[in-house]
Amino acid sequence: MDILNIENCTIRYQEQEAAVEHVSLSVGEQEIVSIVGESGSGKTTLIRAILGILPPGGTVTEGKILFQGKNILELDETSLQKLRGTEIAMIFQDVGASLDPIRIVESQYRESILAHRKMAKADCRSLEKEMLAKMHLTDPERVMVSYPFELSGGMKQRVGIAMSMTARPRLLLADEPTSALDVTIQAEVVREMKKLREQYETAIILVTHNMGVASYISDKIGVMCKGELVEFGK
Ligand code: ADP
Ligand code: MG
Repeated sequence: MDILNIENCTIRYQEQEAAVEHVSLSVGEQEIVSIVGESGSGKTTLIRAILGILPPGGTVTEGKILFQGKNILELDETSLQKLRGTEIAMIFQDVGASLDPIRIVESQYRESILAHRKMAKADCRSLEKEMLAKMHLTDPERVMVSYPFELSGGMKQRVGIAMSMTARPRLLLADEPTSALDVTIQAEVVREMKKLREQYETAIILVTHNMGVASYISDKIGVMCKGELVEFGK
């Protein structure tokens, strides 16, 4: 059974040429699909559409995006918000930048957990510690009381991934999650993502520039060029 089916999807910004044109692809339960392609080929636009967070002016003008069989393009904002962060999570290229610079990690992490469910403070703490340890942050206690500027880029990215995985989403969308990191840390973060898939049975769509990463992690790879999906396969 597929968790996501994109059917003949076309996306435009205002009156411009289509940014994504007649794209169809499917993602099975627990599958990892990588999307590669030159800059400007429509990768970010496509995965933002899945979460209903296209930038202003962007619209899906044709096609369907079925998540667990339901067309997310027909959902209202309330239902979409319920999906976000619980069923579908997204990791951006520079997660470090999306952390609040003036609050310690623990405080923002807790807020992101409590946005989706009720939980006592102590339980939050142990869940946070457990997830940070899973991302191989060697001293979770210290990370939790740190401000973002006290952490390296790789550490912040792992904090971001840990936060995204905490709700155990069915589908994780990752837009170049490791591009800002150096090569050895990239490999480590990608290995951790693969492990999380095994533990939590999360399907992943990974946008990447790195063919090595794509071939290591993926069950399927899609190649985009000028808005079209020119190849898609194992
Ligand atoms: P990629 O992620 O593969 O680099 P994008 O999805 O960001 O590609 O961009 C695809 C196309 O859509 C490009 O032609 C880009 O100029 C256009 N585009 C992206 N974001 C916007 C936006 N916010 N407003 C107008 N056009 C955009
Ligand atoms: Mg992009």
